[in-house]
Amino acid sequence: MPDTPSSENRKLRRELALLLQQARHNEDIMRRHRQLDLQFISAGSFAELIDAIFQSLPTTSDLDVVTLALLDTNYEIRRILVELQVDLARLPQLLFFQEEAELHALCDLTRSLQETELGPYRPERHIALFPEPVALPISVAIVPLVRRQQLIGTLNLGSKHAERFTTDMASDFIEHLASIVAICIENVINGERLKHIGLTDPLTGVNNRRYLERRLQEETGRAARHGHALSCLYIDIDHFKRINDSIGHQAGDEVLREVAARIKAELRLSDALGRFGGEEFVVLLADTELDDAVHVAERIRASVAEQPLRLASRQQEREVSVSIGVAAFAYDGGDAGVEIMASRLLARADQALYRAKSEGRNRVVSG
Ligand code: GH3
Ligand code: MG
Ligand code: MG
Repeated sequence: MPDTPSSENRKLRRELALLLQQARHNEDIMRRHRQLDLQFISAGSFAELIDAIFQSLPTTSDLDVVTLALLDTNYEIRRILVELQVDLARLPQLLFFQEEAELHALCDLTRSLQETELGPYRPERHIALFPEPVALPISVAIVPLVRRQQLIGTLNLGSKHAERFTTDMASDFIEHLASIVAICIENVINGERLKHIGLTDPLTGVNNRRYLERRLQEETGRAARHGHALSCLYIDIDHFKRINDSIGHQAGDEVLREVAARIKAELRLSDALGRFGGEEFVVLLADTELDDAVHVAERIRASVAEQPLRLASRQQEREVSVSIGVAAFAYDGGDAGVEIMASRLLARADQALYRAKSEGRNRVVSG
């Protein structure tokens, strides 16, 4: 017998090599998906989870487009995200629905909540899940995200290949993915809610001092690095002690809430308002020069002083005014750290406020 392998041997080897190659390939897919699961689970913030869903998932699972639709009655999720500075305008793949019915209509009502819809992209059904400027897919998987028997959203996977998602394909893998995504979404949103509570003043609902100090440092750093304008308003209610003494502490609290609301109504979404202490508020105006900041301050002063506050608890009106100190950030080229530059800006606004008080109150002074 010759030593060389028979043709049958060669064929067996080839098959074996092919099987090994397939096994390695599958192992690789499994490993990448396990990594993706881990990335989802370890996301510490909404932004990180969104990144894993929109950046890593398409690569790992060979998808052309991924969108996420979330049920958000009363704008609660959006409000928290905006206040935590998540830039929603940059995330066209993240969609929000107000009504459960809207989302149910998109998840075929003939199916149970748990069931994935697989097959060709049909604009009449799917356009709302793949809106412009998101790329249009040819085949899709619409996967319901369910927590405690409640639909919380859908994960929408799209491919440019018709054969990627077909009605008869098994969807166990996709459903496993969706169950992990649903849990992770619930977790990060709850985490963001907690963060938000820790940074909010419970009496007025505006940001608290901790948040504002952090934001002041971030904004000062940004202004120093990029040469952006930044202004700061220090607002203090005039003779608040008298208000408390004459109408009581509880009605005083109502005044605080109403003044906070009036200040907020004059601001843009990108401005930061915080209650700094008892009857003091600080506002940060990004990209705003001193002159414009003085205008904003004047609008705030007028909106408080020109309409008496209606106090529901005492069924009466009360005239209230505020004094406002304004300062604009000016980078002096020195080597002071961000923390020092930030506290200097705040101190200058505080000094201007002091002058507004000594010059007679109900006025805006810039320094
Ligand atoms: P000025 O015009 O100089 O600012 O006088 P003012 O009376 O407003 O200033 P002062 O700092 O003397 O008094 C602030 C008062 O604010 C004293 C304090 O009892 C009251 N205060 C602080 N926190 C709260 C609060 O949460 N609720 C109520 N109702 N009052 C508060
Ligand atoms: Mg004060
Ligand atoms: Mg005061």
